[in-house]
Amino acid sequence: MKNLILILTLFIFLHAEGLNLELKGLPCQGSIIIGHIEPEETTVYYDGRKLNVIEGDFLLGLAKDADLQQNLRLISESGVEIPVLFFINEKHYHSEVINNIQRKYTDPPKNELLIRRLAIEKKIYKYYRDFQFEKQMDYDMIFQRPIEGGRISSPFGIRRIINQREMAPHSGLDIAVPLGTPVSACSDGLVLVVDKYFYQGKFVMLDHCYGLKSVYMHLDSIAVKTGEIVKIGDLLGNVGTTGRSSGPHLHWGIYWYSDELDPESLEYTNKLFFTFKSGR
Ligand SMILES: [Zn+2]
Repeated sequence: MKNLILILTLFIFLHAEGLNLELKGLPCQGSIIIGHIEPEETTVYYDGRKLNVIEGDFLLGLAKDADLQQNLRLISESGVEIPVLFFINEKHYHSEVINNIQRKYTDPPKNELLIRRLAIEKKIYKYYRDFQFEKQMDYDMIFQRPIEGGRISSPFGIRRIINQREMAPHSGLDIAVPLGTPVSACSDGLVLVVDKYFYQGKFVMLDHCYGLKSVYMHLDSIAVKTGEIVKIGDLLGNVGTTGRSSGPHLHWGIYWYSDELDPESLEYTNKLFFTFKSGR
């Protein structure tokens, strides 16, 4: 009943201002939500952040521990502020035990050079993950898996105990496939970085605008260069087992600014979550 009252209240506000709002995606913690607002001049705020709205399209990420009651703030062209409340579902994360990873990847490093290397890589990685171009690209927000099929060997958010040591929750989705399997871009984007780090192994990070990035880790070979524009489905490289990996697999990660999100939620971004039509 509470939901219904909120939705009806919202409808009246939106109707009065002549706004159409549409949200698509899985309404759940850790999900990507794609929105569309009309008129496109409407300003959209989420979690204190002014979102990039390109021709009415915008995107937001629900953090993996996000509150179940969420709100957007819309500011119409005439300056009227409209709060939008919506509810999302809780996501339950399991735990797994992994014991076949080399200890050098799980034990705290003692070697001074390695400590320095890890500190540098952590800082640079964060820099790229949070990097934002001022000018956003306009593109169709369509997504696909970087690999067709394959076994999900470790889902997003799972709590992992590796070599009896509790690690951070899994930041992406692991797809186990044979060595050399082609890996393709999950959406149009720009190659932000191509590198080889201690934990990530050989990796590629793509920028998809709207604060969205995707990363492909543990590759055996890489087929793109920094600065290249790629289209959805373009070859990025081949599956390997470089870095902290216990066998050939792709670690596919999705970030919305500093939040790690569930890559599997991308396949729901074409499904309507809710829509409000003003009727004008
Ligand atoms: Zn992984």
